[in-house]
Amino acid sequence: MRPPWALDENAFLDACTACGACVERCPERVLVHGAGGRPVFDPMRGECTFCGECERACTPRALDRSATDEPWTLKALVADACLPRHGVVCSSCRDACPERAIAFPLTARVPVPTIDDARCTGCGACVSVCPTRAIALSARAGMTA
Ligand code: SF4
Ligand code: SF4
Ligand code: SF4
Repeated sequence: MRPPWALDENAFLDACTACGACVERCPERVLVHGAGGRPVFDPMRGECTFCGECERACTPRALDRSATDEPWTLKALVADACLPRHGVVCSSCRDACPERAIAFPLTARVPVPTIDDARCTGCGACVSVCPTRAIALSARAGMTA
């Protein structure tokens, strides 16, 4: 997963010089050096606040908010390891979500989480708090992250 406002992957690879400026500038420390030294967003380290520091630091414009409407198309997905799906009460992800995108409809004895894609920004705040690592971020079909 690239930083927010990354160009399409091929254009990103062409433009990014692996200078590391975005990684150094990120106040949340959620960017790390990936393959070839190029930046990757790691939600296990925390939440992207979309502060824009990484984009502003990118001199070669591999991150460019003028080239895209949205920072990315990532959304949270809940997998089968989610505790309520196995009868265990948990709502840590809901408590962490700044967008109130996670709901627990009262349709089961132990309510299970549902993600509202329209609200989810893919910030990743829910990922590291999940005790079973049941949440991943994924680009939505037909979109690129
Ligand atoms: S927008 Fe801000 S918090 Fe998000 S990756 Fe860039 S510098 Fe870090
Ligand atoms: S924090 Fe994880 S285990 Fe708990 S409800 Fe959310 S997705 Fe399920
Ligand atoms: S990725 Fe962010 S906005 Fe989306 S459900 Fe998780 S915490 Fe909420």
